[in-house]
Amino acid sequence: MRNAPIVLMYHGVGDVDSEHDAENLFVPVQAFQQQMEYLNHSGFKILSEVEYLGWLNGKPLERKSVLLTFDDGYSSILQNAVPILAGLRMTGICYVCPGLLGGQSTWMDKTSRHDLMDVAELSEVVDAGIALGVHSHDHSSMDKLNFTDLKKHTVDARALLEERVGVHAKSFAYPYGNHNPTARQAVSSAGFECAFAIYETSGRWALPRVDINSLDTPRTFRLKLQSIYPTARRALSAAPPLRRAAHRVVGLAKR
Ligand SMILES: [Zn+2]
Repeated sequence: MRNAPIVLMYHGVGDVDSEHDAENLFVPVQAFQQQMEYLNHSGFKILSEVEYLGWLNGKPLERKSVLLTFDDGYSSILQNAVPILAGLRMTGICYVCPGLLGGQSTWMDKTSRHDLMDVAELSEVVDAGIALGVHSHDHSSMDKLNFTDLKKHTVDARALLEERVGVHAKSFAYPYGNHNPTARQAVSSAGFECAFAIYETSGRWALPRVDINSLDTPRTFRLKLQSIYPTARRALSAAPPLRRAAHRVVGLAKR
């Protein structure tokens, strides 16, 4: 894709030990601060959702650009990420499950469940200039459902978010990055303008994102900002021994 912006995928931002974060989803606060400062000092333009959609619809971007996305809607995003983003005048998109507002990440193992933002917290996120998108009704994997069942996770979830928070979501992110032609059709028919996957992509309805997690170091973070990274990562996942070797070369954060 022409001069594509890098889309980073975060989950939580907070100091959570590995016992309570089995999937390394929580980037420590200091690491997140350093990553945002790095983007700020390195000349990256941080796109809003509207600017990203503008690019998707053909508007050129003047310089290297990044879109920040935060999946699941953890309360830690409001507590820890929003103040840092506000301090640097940065924005992004938070993907939430409208069926789980004010609940917990119940799809995770018991020890790794965390609080999800409620309506009042989401309103604060919106007030900070961050867009909200839909991440299915309740974090269901979208590749195992028929078109009728998918309506609950697309059309209905979007309507529920609008009813509860007053935001008409423009974009979608697939839980676990899982999608198939039926899921992509459901998201498209529901009227979203685009949808994000992770490394398995398919045009506007399954756009690529780069996962940033608690194991990233300043070095791996910089590596992931290279536009070649998603392609390289896809090639490496087809060859696990090669991927392990690559991990040894770039190093992982200790936690
Ligand atoms: Zn998720």
